Amino acid sequence: MVELLEQIIAECRPDIQKGSVATYIPELAKQDPNDFGIYVLSSDGSHYCAGDYMKPFTVQSIIKPVLLLLALMDNGTEEVRRHIGVEATGKPFDAINVSDKSLVSEHFNPMVNAGAIVICSLIRGKDYVERFERLLDLTRKLADNPNIDVDEAVYRSEKTHGFKNRALAYLLKAHGLLEDDVEDVLDCYFRACSIRICSRDLAHIGFVLANRGKTVRSETRLFPSEFARFVNAVLVTCGMYDGSGEFALRVGVPAKSGVGGGIMAVVPTRLGIGIYSPALNEKGNSIAGIHALELLSKRLYLGIF
Ligand code: GLN
Repeated sequence: MVELLEQIIAECRPDIQKGSVATYIPELAKQDPNDFGIYVLSSDGSHYCAGDYMKPFTVQSIIKPVLLLLALMDNGTEEVRRHIGVEATGKPFDAINVSDKSLVSEHFNPMVNAGAIVICSLIRGKDYVERFERLLDLTRKLADNPNIDVDEAVYRSEKTHGFKNRALAYLLKAHGLLEDDVEDVLDCYFRACSIRICSRDLAHIGFVLANRGKTVRSETRLFPSEFARFVNAVLVTCGMYDGSGEFALRVGVPAKSGVGGGIMAVVPTRLGIGIYSPALNEKGNSIAGIHALELLSKRLYLGIF
């Protein structure tokens, strides 16, 4: 298995030339496009890894399924559905998907920025410091890594350069879709995107979703299985943004990408997979990462369709 992962890394490495690291958050432009790591965690407790699987990077949009999970745990499915849609937008992740006067919650899902910003406001806590701490705590538990923390430099860079997210959040507020103070909600969102993880952590988080709420070693249940079903369904249709349909054809499992270069894949009942390769395609998805998952899926018959 490790040999297979090494072969896949070698075969996909040339793809890196066809993509580029994210630059719209200046701090992300410092990433090394040649880093490439894969970590696979299996339901029998064994794990397989290759390349730079312990290399830290920021989670970016891969925090969105964790945000959704916490919102579900805090409010239940019905209340979450009252605030957010679950349909694919067919638009880029940061699209201002609205013609004036018609911004409605059904038009965005929790995996695009507008939806994730609304989801931040559904997390419980006396203030946004506490809400973020609860998110960080859940991330650490899912990843089975108490050392996960925020990359302060990326956080500052996000906060200073997140003009479009700011525009989106104010638009949500103007349309009555965001109750709380916009800057408080945005601060939570920017911090959430700046959480530093590695491929190993992503594999563990993906595994708990694959295992319907239970961790691999302790069999501890972290959340009810219906929430895993909810998150995984949204990941299949919306997890790779406007590349979700093609990803479903090529790979065929629930997955989430982030502009930090990570992809978390969920193979129901079988595996959690974490990949890191920061050169992105035009949709903001790791170009070599998708190819690697495609090869892995073919070799191990992972596709769920
Ligand atoms: N922090 C990024 C943003 O909000 C996350 C987007 C992403 O990973 N696609 O723009």
